[in-house]
Amino acid sequence: MQSSISDSLIEWYKTNKRDLPWRNTADPYIIWISEIILQQTRVVQGLEYFNRFITRFPDVLSLANAEEDEVLRYWQGLGYYSRARNLHAAAKDIQKRFNGIFPDRYEDVRSLKGIGDYTAAAICSFAYKMPYAVLDGNVYRVLSRLLAIETAIDTPAGKKIFYEAAASLLDKKHPDTYNQAIMELGALQCTPQQPDCNKCPLISIFLAHEKGIEKDFPHKQGKTKIKERFFNYFYIRNKTSVWIHKRTGNDIWKNLFELPLIETEKPLSLTELQQTETYKKLFTGINKIEISAPAFQAKHVLSHRIIYATFYTVNIDSPETGLSEYLQIEDSEIDNFAVSRLTLRFLEHLYS
Ligand code: SF4
Repeated sequence: MQSSISDSLIEWYKTNKRDLPWRNTADPYIIWISEIILQQTRVVQGLEYFNRFITRFPDVLSLANAEEDEVLRYWQGLGYYSRARNLHAAAKDIQKRFNGIFPDRYEDVRSLKGIGDYTAAAICSFAYKMPYAVLDGNVYRVLSRLLAIETAIDTPAGKKIFYEAAASLLDKKHPDTYNQAIMELGALQCTPQQPDCNKCPLISIFLAHEKGIEKDFPHKQGKTKIKERFFNYFYIRNKTSVWIHKRTGNDIWKNLFELPLIETEKPLSLTELQQTETYKKLFTGINKIEISAPAFQAKHVLSHRIIYATFYTVNIDSPETGLSEYLQIEDSEIDNFAVSRLTLRFLEHLYS
């Protein structure tokens, strides 16, 4: 069964695959960058970022020697910024541990920051033709339907079963093309809601399709709870000066810049906000404050969070103690700082 699956998949892939730049190379660095970009991003959007990123950072050393702020700027708008921070840290690690040469042992590749089982298997099979099976969302879907696997994919038992199934079906002579083919089948043909079974190269061996239940797969145990957060931002201006700060701590958008923020447990009106200690601290010592009604409001959806954001524009007569812990910049300089997509939305609104 393994060889007939592989032959059918590879033949289908040759005529149906999308022509993407990272498929025409065996350079592990290029493959790595593309895989990290594509982890949470659609191909169309990822392609644009990939081209810009590779033009600026064409190899390990150019990335390792860059400042983190610049790497984040090239990632701006793509989300999941830990991916960019990890890329940068891993490039520095390669520079230090492997003299700047991308490692060619699976264990070494897997040891790099931000590289998990899937990405290590993808790099090692695509670049070095090593026999490691990839398991991403597309492959989980295809395998669960192919073998009608009932075990939930988000459980330790499920992971083990799928890992073994993927390894046993892998074409060890052509691991690179086989892995690409099964992922592409999941992306183009065996989609979550509309699997196009009638045109599928594997239809004759599909257990779930035989029973007409392919859309029921894969099974999942439970969904992650979505948390709601309430952000109140202040675009504070004194003549041409504005204030920003870098997010630190273990939270979303780490190391990105943003406007002064007051996060609250629930939505608050401006009057209620003005009663809070954080608001009073922020504007300590400022005599004249002109504050707008909300200048911009947005519901910003991330993977496990929904952020309800309100932006106020504020004119002040002079910066005083409350703002001393923020970075004072010229308003025209703000484009030089990497900010979250949410902040970018506000700035685009402000300057539109
Ligand atoms: S037969 Fe249907 S369910 Fe199976 S891989 Fe093809 S499209 Fe997916």
